[in-house]
Amino acid sequence: MSIVLNGLPAAAGIAKGRAHVLHWAVPTVPHHTVSPDQVDEELRRFDDARRTVKARLQEMKQGTVERIGSYESQIFDPQLAMLDDPEVVDRVHQYIRENHLPAARAFEWRVLELETLWTRTNNPMVLDRVNDLVDLQIRVLHVLLDLPDPWDISLGGEPVVIVAQNLTPSLTVQFDPEIVRGLATDLGTRTSHWAILARSLNIPAVVGLGDVMGQVSEGQEIIVDGRIGRVVLDPDDQDLTVFHEREEQIRCWEEETALIAGLDAETMDGEPVTLRANLDLPSEAHAAKARGAQGIGLMRTEFLIVGRSSLPGEEEQYEAYRSVAKEFPSGTVIVRTFDLGGDKFPMFLDMPREENPFLGWRAIRVCLDQPDFFHTQLRAILRATAHGDIRILLPMVNDVDEVLQVRAMISQIEVDLQKEGVPYNPGTKIGVLIETPAAALDAVELSRHSDFFSIGTNDLVQYTLAVDRTNSRLAKLYNPFHPSVIRLLHQVSRVGRAAGVEVSVCGEMAAHPLGAFLMLGLNIHALSVAWPALPEIKKAIREFRIEDARKAAGQALAAPTSQDAIWCLLEGIGESTDLAAFAGRWNLSLPQ
Ligand code: PEP
Ligand code: MG
Repeated sequence: MSIVLNGLPAAAGIAKGRAHVLHWAVPTVPHHTVSPDQVDEELRRFDDARRTVKARLQEMKQGTVERIGSYESQIFDPQLAMLDDPEVVDRVHQYIRENHLPAARAFEWRVLELETLWTRTNNPMVLDRVNDLVDLQIRVLHVLLDLPDPWDISLGGEPVVIVAQNLTPSLTVQFDPEIVRGLATDLGTRTSHWAILARSLNIPAVVGLGDVMGQVSEGQEIIVDGRIGRVVLDPDDQDLTVFHEREEQIRCWEEETALIAGLDAETMDGEPVTLRANLDLPSEAHAAKARGAQGIGLMRTEFLIVGRSSLPGEEEQYEAYRSVAKEFPSGTVIVRTFDLGGDKFPMFLDMPREENPFLGWRAIRVCLDQPDFFHTQLRAILRATAHGDIRILLPMVNDVDEVLQVRAMISQIEVDLQKEGVPYNPGTKIGVLIETPAAALDAVELSRHSDFFSIGTNDLVQYTLAVDRTNSRLAKLYNPFHPSVIRLLHQVSRVGRAAGVEVSVCGEMAAHPLGAFLMLGLNIHALSVAWPALPEIKKAIREFRIEDARKAAGQALAAPTSQDAIWCLLEGIGESTDLAAFAGRWNLSLPQ
């Protein structure tokens, strides 16, 4: 009998292979001391081991620059910095000198001290650093103890699915997608650095599985469906049939992708839709363009800085924004200002430990409280506006005053740029990301000070329903079609239309066929989805009729439950297309 485990989808795609269980574990260090005349030798051994690991990390960093991009390669910087950090090095030297510990033992001690110190804070940013530290510990100890190279994952050339408790960026980046076909982990989230890398490498991944490690054994057959967040161990004939169907679907998709990219995003009855892409990293802009994005509806900028030990300067940020605009000379690029906090923490900002980080110091709140750091970003974006239709999007706004404060900062920067003779677009549009019920209900006021609205349904759903979007235990309560959510969407759309403010949706709901159908029916004609999902959602849109969507949305608005709303939408889609086939393709369940 097969075992099905549900986790969180982290990187789309489906894969099958033999499980390779990765025990990326800290080796046992023998307990002894050295004689005084061996101290110098141990000091030298420690410094040599540091150099060896550093060289290895630098090599991987370079490989990442070549294979993925320079932004992604910066994930190694914190570890490289730790290897030279006096907090680490001086103490290890001290323990060798004063306590006559061998290098491995002294290093282990120091790591344990730092780990205890850091985990006590419970701050996700610091916890991220602990992962990096443990990764370093494994590497350095293997060199010092002369153990076989643990990162040389010898997989016999056969395609495998890596199963691990968690991964690190430096491990993930070594995976050759030809051999490593999928990833399945007990821990991790979609925004873990390594998950971001998995997406860039196009390796399907499911995270947050809880206990896949406890259930899998080496060499066992395993399927990873990174789109729906499901893992199947020992698949039976039925699972294999589904797998082959899904694989075939994806293969056909790949073929169709190029064709669809060139088609207009419009409904069957000719209603045009603006279909843009969401980007996590600037290097994805090219792929988004190739998949037919008309522009970028959401550029998440925090991944330019999370995991780095220093803030990228104005010039570097300017180049990043400009490079995306260059891909879309006649399209819009909406750059969201740093959405930090929640579960994204840069190392250089001292962010306090909070009981409820998603309700805490997050997004616009952080930026307004850190004007210097925010000023650098706004200046970089404004300079980039000279190269295309770049717009600025403010995350987690609740209040008009927050928009006004940003507008004041922008005006001041514009004065400076004028004085300096630096080109920029004086009419740069500033929009609000509607992601709290407060913003949706206050849309009338916000529309007076905003040039556009984008609805961030990922957060809007979490805040409306009081369901943590990262808590896999609550996943079934995280319901984007809850009547309250539909009503808020309708409210924002209505206000936007009345105020002449463009309304778009950039949350995951826009990439869901029922979500897209609902949006069109609610008169929201601009959608932005993760770039790999573009062709598929465009294909769905081309099967819809706008009149059906309007009628179904009207019914969904009046529906007493989310189930009823979903059924109204399905029925609406069924007016113009074979519903069973449509639902099969999208893995939607139909009411009996
Ligand atoms: C959202 O909340 O819907 C959104 C687009 O922002 P993020 O997912 O980055 O929080
Ligand atoms: Mg959000």
